[in-house]
Formats: sequence, structure tokens, C-alpha cells
Amino acid sequence: MPSGQRRAISAFQSRLRWRDHFIQKFEMEARMEWVSVNAGYRTLHKPVKPQWIQAWETGHTGIPMVDACMRCLNATGYLNFRMRAMLVSFLSHHLWQPWQQGAHHLAQQFLDFEPGIHYPQLIMQAGETGTYTIRIYNPVKQGQDHDPQGHFVRQWVPELAACPDAGIHTPWRMDLFAQSASGIRLGESYPLPLVDLEQSGRHARRVLWAKRNDPAVRAEARRILQKHIIKGRRWA
Ligand SMILES: Cc1cc2nc3c(=O)[nH]c(=O)nc-3n(C[C@H](O)[C@H](O)[C@H](O)COP(=O)(O)OP(=O)(O)OC[C@H]3O[C@@H](n4cnc5c(N)ncnc54)[C@H](O)[C@@H]3O)c2cc1C
Repeated sequence: MPSGQRRAISAFQSRLRWRDHFIQKFEMEARMEWVSVNAGYRTLHKPVKPQWIQAWETGHTGIPMVDACMRCLNATGYLNFRMRAMLVSFLSHHLWQPWQQGAHHLAQQFLDFEPGIHYPQLIMQAGETGTYTIRIYNPVKQGQDHDPQGHFVRQWVPELAACPDAGIHTPWRMDLFAQSASGIRLGESYPLPLVDLEQSGRHARRVLWAKRNDPAVRAEARRILQKHIIKGRRWA
């Protein structure tokens, strides 16, 4: 068998093992549908902002890659793993909203909705397990890395169709002349960004890494590892 095929099959097999691992974990702690698996994170204070949740659900946050992904998901029912993770990171880290506020909307959109994968993945991407690393996605970098010419953003956010490549992931950085030349009136034809990504990312990083050292979080992390890992396996 050609080595490329062998690699593809082994990658697929490892994803199926992830699937079974997450489903088993959910079976053993089904309260993950409502609360973080690590009880130490249940004291995190995240005031709910219904308008921000609605902007996130409808793809009107003012962050083009986030809006394009959500509109694509709402229309097609599919997004790849990384963009699913970015949507949750944007909601729970940058908008500082409880992951529970996004769980049902995503579940209703995913054609492949599987609660056993969905809820553990939401908690993991929100950085509330205490056992996995904390990944705070920068949606601008994700856009520049994975949609450098803005084809995906222009397809799903037609308000930015005439935007030059240089401004497609950061229209708020374009001067007024460039905005009007592209037919964009930020705050009218397309929203201004809900948050300053650098500030919101810094805040989330500071709070979540400090929380990681909380004795309650550490004790729970030990409990989770004991309960969910098979000795010699590398994940929990
Ligand atoms: C917030 C979030 C929510 C998710 N919700 C779901 C869900 O409801 N249903 C779902 O099937 N997957 C879910 N995933 C996992 C993953 O994103 C999808 O399985 C994958 O993107 C589907 O693409 P595919 O059909 O091309 O699968 P492939 O990449 O070809 O993978 C094949 C199968 O492996 C399993 N799988 C793949 N990646 C993962 C993973 N990271 N964790 C666990 N199992 C995996 C799935 O059963 C998938 O159908 C979620 C991921 C995130 C970050």
C-alpha cells in the first residue's frame, strides 16, 4: 500500500479512536452536557451578553473569519475541526461567554451532531478541562493562514466582497477612504468588531492560566486522569 494511503488510514483510525474515547468519557460523565467536566472551572464568572450571543450565532461579530465560518455552518451544516474549535474559542475566550451559551446552536447546525463528541470538545476548546493545554485562537491569524486571498470570507460575507486582500481579515484597520472605495460602511453595512482581539485574548490567557493553578482545578484534573485514562495511554 502506498505510504500516503497508509498515513491517511492511520490518521483516520486515530480520529475514530478519539471519537470512541470522547463518547466513552461522555457516557461516564453525562453531566458534561450542562457543566464543565472539571468542577474547578464552574466558578468562572462570565456574564452572559444575549446580543453578543446572537451576533455570534448569525455571523455578525465584525470579525470576518468568524462570521464567514458561522454563516457557512448555518447554511451547510459542516465545518472542519479547526474552524469549529475557533468558533468556540472566539465565543468562550474573546467574547468571554460560557461555552454552554453556544452548545445548542452548534448542535442544531452540525449535520454530524454527536453529543458524545460535541460536549467534551466544547469544554476542551473552552479550556475548562485542566488536563489539555489552553488554545486561544486568533481569528485574524486563522483567516490569514487558511484564507489568505479571502475567497472563503468573500463567499460567505458578501458585504466585504469588494474589500482588498490586505483588509479582508481586518476591515477596521482600513482608513475611511479605503473603506468607502470598497463600499464598506463599518457599523452600517458590516458590523464593527465586538471586541479588541488583542485585549480579549490577553484577558482570557491571564484568567485561564491562573485558574489552571487553582487547587480545586488541579485536584479535579487528577480525578479526571484517574477516571478516564488507560495506563500507558497519552490522553484523558
Ligand atoms: C466544538 C467541536 C464540536 C464538535 N462536535 C462534533 C459532533 O457533534 N460530531 C462529530 O462527529 N464530531 C464533532 N467534532 C469533531 C470533529 O470536528 C468532526 O468529527 C470532524 O470535523 C468531522 O469531519 P469529517 O466528517 O471530515 O471527519 P474525519 O476528519 O474524516 O473523521 C472521521 C470521524 O472521526 C471522528 N472524529 C474526527 N475528529 C474528531 C475529534 N477531534 N474528536 C473526536 N472524534 C473525531 C468523527 O466521528 C468523524 O466522523 C467537534 C469538534 C469541535 C471542535
